Amino acid sequence: MMRKNGETQAPNQEIEALDEGPIEPCEHMTNQINSLADGTLHGVIKHFTRFHAWHCGKCSPALRRLIALRTRVITLRQLPRDAERNLLPVARYSALKKAMDALESGEESSNG
Ligand SMILES: [Zn+2]
Repeated sequence: MMRKNGETQAPNQEIEALDEGPIEPCEHMTNQINSLADGTLHGVIKHFTRFHAWHCGKCSPALRRLIALRTRVITLRQLPRDAERNLLPVARYSALKKAMDALESGEESSNG
């Protein structure tokens, strides 16, 4: 996926792809689809995986959703901290931050 320099907003169709359901590639292709989505797959296996994903009813949407997810994460990482906070309602941001803090400290959240 190519991107113009300085562009930080993900295309809407990539964001919408996240809302279409779970990411479930063929079980035997999971690692290859993940690697293709994050750009770490090379050589013949890359071409094989692209060909498979092109024709497969499970891997094609899974690849699209993984790329959308990756794009969203990269976009969020590039936002200034204040802009990041404005994307979520305050309560949701607080819950997310609390969960992330718990994960980082290795503790489980005590609420439900
Ligand atoms: Zn497949």
